[in-house]
Amino acid sequence: MKSFGEYVGKFGDAVLKDNVRCLQMNMGYVCNLSCRHCHVEAGPDRREMMSMTVVKDCLRFIESADINVIDITGGAPEMNPNLRGLIRGLRKLKPAASILLRSNLTILNEPKYAKLPGFLQENNVDIISSMPCYLEENVEFQRGKGVYSQNIKMLQKLNRLGYGGTGPKLHLVYNPGGNFLPAPQNELDFAYKESLGERFGIVFNNLYTITNAPIGRFRADLEKKGLLEGYMNLLADNFNPANLSRVMCRNLLNVDWQGRVYDCDFNQVLNLPIAVRDNYIGSITAKDLAGMPVKLGNHCFTCTAGAGSSCQGSLNNKAG
Ligand code: SF4
Ligand code: SF4
Repeated sequence: MKSFGEYVGKFGDAVLKDNVRCLQMNMGYVCNLSCRHCHVEAGPDRREMMSMTVVKDCLRFIESADINVIDITGGAPEMNPNLRGLIRGLRKLKPAASILLRSNLTILNEPKYAKLPGFLQENNVDIISSMPCYLEENVEFQRGKGVYSQNIKMLQKLNRLGYGGTGPKLHLVYNPGGNFLPAPQNELDFAYKESLGERFGIVFNNLYTITNAPIGRFRADLEKKGLLEGYMNLLADNFNPANLSRVMCRNLLNVDWQGRVYDCDFNQVLNLPIAVRDNYIGSITAKDLAGMPVKLGNHCFTCTAGAGSSCQGSLNNKAG
């Protein structure tokens, strides 16, 4: 198999950082779940959490940069005690910015977090939640027993708060349950809306399809089953050069719980930090990053295969 670098050289120009418009903050690897596909290998035994010092340095970066989207992820970011402080700080700084929280939803059912949905709604925080299928069996295969019914309960509660309707946006994420590429995003968007609407009265804005990256727990699972090489070939065989100009790392900066910066969450997991002199969010400006080459590797085939993939779904099939 040819390397991703060889494909880039053959089909396109180098991938360079453009204006950074989105800061993706990984609040740490602690999570109440241990999903099979988790690329950060999050779980209840992890201890990494972003401190308030790093949160404040992120806020300073956001203030000085042209950031209009803040994408909060983890682990389960709800389990970081600095989440509310971050959101209050963001709203003070950027009243009109889009703030997205990636939630597994089950965590919001725990009594400790019962008031969090209301807080998120009041602060106009959009929610993006992974829902690997609209059918119970497939969700529980990836995420564990009992997850499906908890997700349904929470989606209904969020709808009552106005999410997915007149209030903040509510998006769902589909990722394949194995070593195959996602079906077209618009088709799945329709199927999810029909199924969840008819059976549970649930409404949501968009369904995003995300291709599984061959890293973390998913990679280990493929290796164990002898399927890794075949999956890498599938991604490479479906390389679509048109996606090179649309990959999310051109406009996104990812920061880990310690404040180190990367081109994306995958590069964070693979420990491929951006090669700036002092790789810390408090020491850099957006200008330091403009024009820098993105650190690429064979995992990047994930983003360019077929319809393309990003943290906000397919690259050429946005659901609106
Ligand atoms: S995929 Fe999300 S919900 Fe599942 S273990 Fe990883 S961070 Fe937690
Ligand atoms: S894996 Fe990361 S660095 Fe590679 S193309 Fe995708 S977003 Fe860019």
